[in-house]
Amino acid sequence: MKNLAYIIKALTPPGKTGSKWRALTPHDALDRRSFLFRSGGALCLCALGDFNIVSCIDESSASKDATEGFAKIAMHWKKLDKSTVQCGLCPNECVLGNGERGACRVRENRKGTLYTLVYSRLATMHVDPVEKKPFFHFLPGSMAYSVATAGCNFSCKFCQNWELSQAKPEDLDAVMVSPDALAHRAHASSSRIIAFTYNEPTIQYEYIIDASRKAREKHLRPVIVSNGYIRPEAGRQLTTSLDAIKIDLKSFSQKFYGEICGGVLNHVLKNLELVHKSGTWLEIVVLVIPTLNDSESEIRSMVRWVKRNLSADVPMHFTRFQSTYLMRNLPPTPVEALERCREAARAEGIRYAYVGNVPGHRWENTYCHNCGAMIIRRGGFYAVTSMLRNGHCPHCATRIPGVWV
Ligand code: SF4
Repeated sequence: MKNLAYIIKALTPPGKTGSKWRALTPHDALDRRSFLFRSGGALCLCALGDFNIVSCIDESSASKDATEGFAKIAMHWKKLDKSTVQCGLCPNECVLGNGERGACRVRENRKGTLYTLVYSRLATMHVDPVEKKPFFHFLPGSMAYSVATAGCNFSCKFCQNWELSQAKPEDLDAVMVSPDALAHRAHASSSRIIAFTYNEPTIQYEYIIDASRKAREKHLRPVIVSNGYIRPEAGRQLTTSLDAIKIDLKSFSQKFYGEICGGVLNHVLKNLELVHKSGTWLEIVVLVIPTLNDSESEIRSMVRWVKRNLSADVPMHFTRFQSTYLMRNLPPTPVEALERCREAARAEGIRYAYVGNVPGHRWENTYCHNCGAMIIRRGGFYAVTSMLRNGHCPHCATRIPGVWV
């Protein structure tokens, strides 16, 4: 029974029961109501063959010690002297003395060698619709085996997954899932996609590179949901490992990036260009936060930049902020504000602009940019109907940008 309770908790998407992210632990108690609710969901998944429930958690490998089994020599760093190293994975370029960790909390200098502490270390696993990432032009209606670890190289005050992103690896119980095992589990769950998501995935770089290779061997499509904060050399290598990348463009203002996220806007813009040029499928999400990044002038500057430097065909999602973490003082984004952002994007020539986090909204559907016909209907994440014919509009035969098979 203890195992079943653990598995059921692992299958529970965050937010579904009003709960927040929490560590996976076999020792957590479930009340009767939660147990029945989650049992039902877990058994449904088993019955549908969606999830290999027996093998989804290797409980024996659960560990509370970040140094136990998960440490691996990192990529993208250099030695500055006998005991000091500099990480070159992201633009923070942390300089670390012996025993120190980077700002992301998952890379550590051990006697002059930089280690990642999260290789194969997963703090959460769920099977989600790809629309939830969100990707709207990438294999619509497919399931994505979605995984995360602890840590982030940003410190966004509005983070919706802060209990993961602002944690150290040892703060969260975790399971060891090798790249091979991850591909196996995703395949067994009938997912077509493996998504590295929830926290910032690029800080788990070495694992993503290896797991994506294994995923492709099983004809799975690896994707990441990222803040786009990575140095160019590492970013270029990563794009070749992935089939799609979603980048959060959190604002079009350096002040916002500096004061609210702890980052530099220009690095994100450069990486948007890098991904677009690489040919890896790209979608952009803008979380619209009342009073902070929702002015029409800022949105227009942003979408003009996307059209000029990337393409009018890159889908843009304007999604709803929910009051959380260090920004509980701000209200959720009014739906009308999201609609205004979408209208501005369309007026500036972006062909596929969406309203997000408003289930059932008409601007969550996809309409052909040429004739205006609805070509993908979305009634929430689980009700996706595609009318596309080989990636073309069924009415006017225009090719619709995206990855459809
Ligand atoms: S990946 Fe982590 S350790 Fe490396 S530079 Fe970025 S924040 Fe620092």
